Amino acid sequence: MRIWLDGGLRDLETARVSVFDHGLTVGDGIFETVKAVDGRPFALTRHLDRLTTSARGLGLPDPDLDEVRRACAAVLEANPMPLGRLRITYTGGHGPLGSDRGEHGPTLVVALGETTRRPDATAVITVPWPRNERGALTGLKTTSYAENVVALARAHHEGGSEALFGNTVGQLCEGTGSNVFVVLDGEILTPPLASGCLAGITRALTVEWTGAKETDLPLDVLARADEIFLTSTLRDVQAVHRVDDRELAGAPGPVTAKAMRIFDERAGQDLDP
Ligand code: PLP
Repeated sequence: MRIWLDGGLRDLETARVSVFDHGLTVGDGIFETVKAVDGRPFALTRHLDRLTTSARGLGLPDPDLDEVRRACAAVLEANPMPLGRLRITYTGGHGPLGSDRGEHGPTLVVALGETTRRPDATAVITVPWPRNERGALTGLKTTSYAENVVALARAHHEGGSEALFGNTVGQLCEGTGSNVFVVLDGEILTPPLASGCLAGITRALTVEWTGAKETDLPLDVLARADEIFLTSTLRDVQAVHRVDDRELAGAPGPVTAKAMRIFDERAGQDLDP
């Protein structure tokens, strides 16, 4: 495996970052996961825009997007695979042992892992810990993901593949690595960004392509929705067949199945050449 670090391709086995890199010591960093089909990244421009937004939110210098593009292309070329997940990580870089930033510039790493298409339907749980819809990091794709790691471990323990959060005012928010949609009376609904969820790229495309409506949804909508589905870079549009103890028989239901079809058809057109 060849990865990008310090301006060039390196062997994964020998590539090194400082043990005082602030991405490691204080989680001061941001990231993107980009799907790549036959070596072609999906929606890369949208991911790079979000990377810049996240960097500005953390007060990190703007990433050099030309370098990030070059890095993605080089890593994809060096590691051919049918379905890959590019991981772009950009941290505050080497710094002091406290939380103050050091003088060194940021660290950029671009790596690639192989992935597979997810099943059409999955089980999810809800977790009791609220997402803070008004925090300093809300809406930023930071490497401070430990809360998601804990919630996802609980989901796996209970036989699910994703955990859903409400926010501090009891509204539905998002999953650990996905956005959530519900179908009520034939209408597709999803929490607004003000709920504290990440501005998912798959979410935005799904809203655009299906006409889904963004609206506040109480967490208990999960107990009565006709259909529920998740969106994310690695799941695309994925139906939910169980939420906690509630089975949603026949998932994907008709509305979700249509959203999945629309997404599959349209997404093929947004691959970078
Ligand atoms: N919400 C969170 C917290 C995420 O980490 C992700 C993606 O990893 C998403 C939502 C979905 O975003 P996207 O569709 O851009 O992958």
